[in-house]
Amino acid sequence: MSRQISSLLAIAAVCVTLAPAPAFAAPKEEPVDCEQVKCIALTFDDGPSKYAGTLLDTLKKHDAKATFFLEGQYVKSRPQYVKRMVAEGHELGNHSYSHPDFTKSDAATIKSEIQKTQDAVKKAAGVEPRLLRPPYGLADLQVSDIAAEFGMPIILWTAGSKDWSTKDVDAIQKQTLAVAEPNGIILMHDWVKQTVDGMASLIKTLKNKGYHLVTVSDVIKSQELKPGDAFPTPEGWES
Ligand SMILES: [Zn+2]
Repeated sequence: MSRQISSLLAIAAVCVTLAPAPAFAAPKEEPVDCEQVKCIALTFDDGPSKYAGTLLDTLKKHDAKATFFLEGQYVKSRPQYVKRMVAEGHELGNHSYSHPDFTKSDAATIKSEIQKTQDAVKKAAGVEPRLLRPPYGLADLQVSDIAAEFGMPIILWTAGSKDWSTKDVDAIQKQTLAVAEPNGIILMHDWVKQTVDGMASLIKTLKNKGYHLVTVSDVIKSQELKPGDAFPTPEGWES
C-alpha cells in the first residue's frame, strides 16, 4: 500500500471516529396502541372555521390530537389553520369542496369536489388527506368506487355530539360523554362556538376517564380498511 493511500485511510478512519454522533431527535411521543389503551377520536367537520385557531390552541395546551374533515372552500380561505393542523400532529380528511350530497351528485361532480379539496390542502399544508368523509355522512356504491379511485376509505362516526343542534356547552359535553366509548369516532363541528368553548373541559373529563385523544387513523388501525371501504359500515352495506 502506498504511503499516500495509507495516510488517506488514516484520515478516513479519524473522520469516522470523529464523525459527530447523530443528533438526538426531539423526544418523540410514544405511539399509542389503541388495542391496549382506551382511545377516542374527536373529529371536526366543515372547517376550518373562524374558531379553528382557538380550538388548535386548546388541543395543543391539553396535548390532544384530533381529525379535521375539511371543506375545500374554507381550506382555500383559511390555509393558515390547515398548516397548523399538520404541524401540530392532527390528521386531515377530505369533506368535499362545497358540501353537496354525494348520493345526489354525478360522478364528475364528486370527483371534482374531492380533487379540488385535495389540491387546496396540498397547497396549504403540503400534504394530501387520506380519509374521506362525504357531506352528511351519505355514501353509496358510486361514492365508494370514487373513494377507492382516490385510495381513501370512507370514515363516518360511531356517535355524534349533536353540537350543531344543541349549540350548548353543557349539552354538547353531556352528549359526548354519554356516547364516548373505546375507539369511538365522535362527530363534532369547529364552527359551533360552544363546541370550541367547552373543549378544554371536555378533554379534561375524557382524560380523567382514561381516554387518550388520538386521530382517526389511530383508532381504525386494527380495521385494516381498504380504499372504498366505509367505517363504521353503514346500514344496508355488505360488510
Ligand atoms: Zn359536513
